[in-house]
Amino acid sequence: MKFNTKTIHGGQHHEEHTGAVMPPVFQTSTYAQKTPGVPLNGYEYSRAANPTRTALEDALASIENGARGLAFSSGLAATDCVMKLLKPNDEVIAMDDLYGGTYRMFTRIYQELGIKFHFVDMNDLDKFKSLINENTKLVWVETPTNPLMKVVDIEAIAKITNEKKILFAVDNTFATPYLQRPLDMGADIVMHSATKYLGGHSDVIAGALIIKDAELGEKMHFLQFATGATLGPQDAYLVLRGIKTLHLRVQRHSENGQKVADYLVAHPKVAKVYYPGLKDHPNHEIAKKQMSGSFGGMVSFTFKSGAKADSIKFLEDLKVFTLAESLGGVESLANHPALMTHASIPEPKRKEIGITDDLVRLSVGIEDAEDLIKDIEQALG
Ligand SMILES: *Cc1c(COP(=O)(O)O)cnc(C)c1O
Repeated sequence: MKFNTKTIHGGQHHEEHTGAVMPPVFQTSTYAQKTPGVPLNGYEYSRAANPTRTALEDALASIENGARGLAFSSGLAATDCVMKLLKPNDEVIAMDDLYGGTYRMFTRIYQELGIKFHFVDMNDLDKFKSLINENTKLVWVETPTNPLMKVVDIEAIAKITNEKKILFAVDNTFATPYLQRPLDMGADIVMHSATKYLGGHSDVIAGALIIKDAELGEKMHFLQFATGATLGPQDAYLVLRGIKTLHLRVQRHSENGQKVADYLVAHPKVAKVYYPGLKDHPNHEIAKKQMSGSFGGMVSFTFKSGAKADSIKFLEDLKVFTLAESLGGVESLANHPALMTHASIPEPKRKEIGITDDLVRLSVGIEDAEDLIKDIEQALG
């Protein structure tokens, strides 16, 4: 099955009793048993499994080409489940540009519990390799990164992690499986904030893991079952419904993202534009190789003045774009990383990785591109 068919049919079947084309929202915590300990139909208690969540999890596994999908109550709950594979003294090598909440979890929760983290720009493969030792258990990458749109060569990292038997997890939230499928390139685990493009309508908080290996998938299901951060059936239904139009939405997000990036590059007030679809993006060639021909709807930029005040004024003056956290919904959003999504990263660290006080991040939606560009034009004016 091709990807655009999988978004609609992957792992799906009609509901057995009524033929309902969409899975019902099974709003139930428990399931009847005929004799003690023997469930009628495999379902026992909804923390372990719920049919609406199963439908979503099977769709997730299908679109990312994994053996197992798991749906969580948030993206961070999904990440947290991966971290629970680790023990004190284990080491993690992570990309130096990460979603702020991921960085916060790593440094303020798991570092405190005795896990050691190295944050490094994974485009420097020699530096990356030099950090590997016998305690290295996990490599964590986001690509493109939030908010600086750095691109990491997934295949190059996977070659190293597979050889050394280190788990390799990729946060695929920004690219989505429409543009990039990390498991096909050698990664072991894909993580999503399904709150973003998979859900696609800014109406749900949800997370996902897709695991390449069935045995590891079973182990991760145990961790989820034993610690409890599962997605409720109503939210599972919403994410499943979102996935059915993922290919159409991300195609338009990408077209609009490219147009907005091209417009910003030519604007006299704009200093730097971060978008992997630009020819002068430092990792454009890698992006072309591993993303399927287009580059998504996330665009960041800075001002020639370098002034925080200019970025704030711009954000206040936008009319079609909404100033809000989050991304990946049909509507365009704008965000000030240093003051909003990435405020949990200490200022010196932010400066070090390039999240300046005049950086603006746009989640370009699927409205008419002309309206979006007009809005940016008037707000920059
Ligand atoms: C939003 C986001 C997360 C966290 O997901 P939640 O659903 O908000 O918990 C993780 N990674 C990336 C790249 C994100 O954008």
